[in-house]
Amino acid sequence: MSMRIGYGYDSHTFQAGVPLVIGGMPIDHPEGLAGHSDGDVLLHAITDALLGAVSAGDIGTFFPPSDPRWKGAASSVFLQTALEEVATAGYKILNIDTVLIMAKPKIVPIAGELRDHVAELLGIKPGEVGIKAKTPEGLGLDHVAQAHCTVLLETLQAPEPIAAMTATAEVGSEEVDAVVEGLVRSHDLSALGRKVTPFDTEDLT
Ligand code: MG
Repeated sequence: MSMRIGYGYDSHTFQAGVPLVIGGMPIDHPEGLAGHSDGDVLLHAITDALLGAVSAGDIGTFFPPSDPRWKGAASSVFLQTALEEVATAGYKILNIDTVLIMAKPKIVPIAGELRDHVAELLGIKPGEVGIKAKTPEGLGLDHVAQAHCTVLLETLQAPEPIAAMTATAEVGSEEVDAVVEGLVRSHDLSALGRKVTPFDTEDLT
């Protein structure tokens, strides 16, 4: 088994007349976060942490702001792509930890709901998601929302019967590989295959 760590950061400016979405959750507030997509600062930080953990570039690599397809896009689309990259690399999430930094709205009263929502989007348990809130005291950034995220991954394990079979098989390695590939596919790992063209470094933002 091997483990990998990832780190992500993002910031967006508050803007009147825009819906506020954090962690994929609509939040009642007079201002939202400006951005080419829905401005979900938390999902952007998580997406970058996941991509970074498997050395797959960053969110701008896959979804450049210059591409009109992503205007107003739900950031859960970005997150899903990062999850596919993680699975394609052969890893799964052990846990994530996040910090949200903003003057308003107050995150603490909704932190539990936010944690449950993010856990559902990631397909992990609420107890595997940390949501922490800070105010930007001393930074002079009361109209900015920032998010930090760390993620820990571990290698996907083949189901026990497959592992036992590969350990005892008396056939050529190519045949074993073919059987294992078929069985792993039946355990729905391949459904997580890459759907987005891998990055073009000119798209780095
Ligand atoms: Mg962003």
